[in-house]
Amino acid sequence: MRLSIMNLKDSISFFFFGNVCIGCGSNSQKLDPWLCPNCKEELIAYGEHPVWPSKEDAICLFPMNSLTRKLILAMKYKGMQKIASYLVAHSSVGRKGEALQILESWGKNMPFIPVPVHNARMRERGYNQSEQAALELALHCNGKLQTNILKRRIYKPSQTLLGSNARAFNVAGAFEAKNAKSLNPQNGIVVVDDVYTTGATTSSCARALKRAGFENIKVCTLLYEFPASAAADMAADKKLGWRTERD
Ligand SMILES: [Zn+2]
Repeated sequence: MRLSIMNLKDSISFFFFGNVCIGCGSNSQKLDPWLCPNCKEELIAYGEHPVWPSKEDAICLFPMNSLTRKLILAMKYKGMQKIASYLVAHSSVGRKGEALQILESWGKNMPFIPVPVHNARMRERGYNQSEQAALELALHCNGKLQTNILKRRIYKPSQTLLGSNARAFNVAGAFEAKNAKSLNPQNGIVVVDDVYTTGATTSSCARALKRAGFENIKVCTLLYEFPASAAADMAADKKLGWRTERD
């Protein structure tokens, strides 16, 4: 049985990358299923301490760097949504370290609310990677994935071509909160997104949640990217033909 699971994992990895590590590109028979042992070790080291992006009510599990960036691009643009779970599992949440302690200090059995993608993008991509991350976080924290609260109000085209001010405006009123009464608004909630750059998206979500009566709103994202490097990264993505959107 164990052998067949390993074979299945190997087959999935081979199908996408031909037994090549997403991190370093080396051929490895020991992928698990995306990284070789060296890259996996590197990833765990990057995730040992969470990043605090200037706000004390927000943490990011990893910094954006060459390795984490390759993983997140594969997650977003190559249909590999399970990488969201993989990142959480190898962060200090999954490894019962610092980030897990922070999340547990924020509250018990908290609802984890993913930043929703618009229906059009959901149809195009087939999944919401933030929902996958929120599900994995909830599993590690004895919390609950809560997808019926935050809704995206209007569809705006990809933010790739917009400057940071325009992008902030673009997401400013993009969300609304519904069904607040199904949760106790005084209890804490955690908004989950994939990448935190300027914080415009999660701030917009927090405003919508505050309007609905929520008070104790926290944020957890998979990655933190410096706004200054985000512009260069987006230009690189564009060259590769990837359409990217960040907050
Ligand atoms: Zn590697």
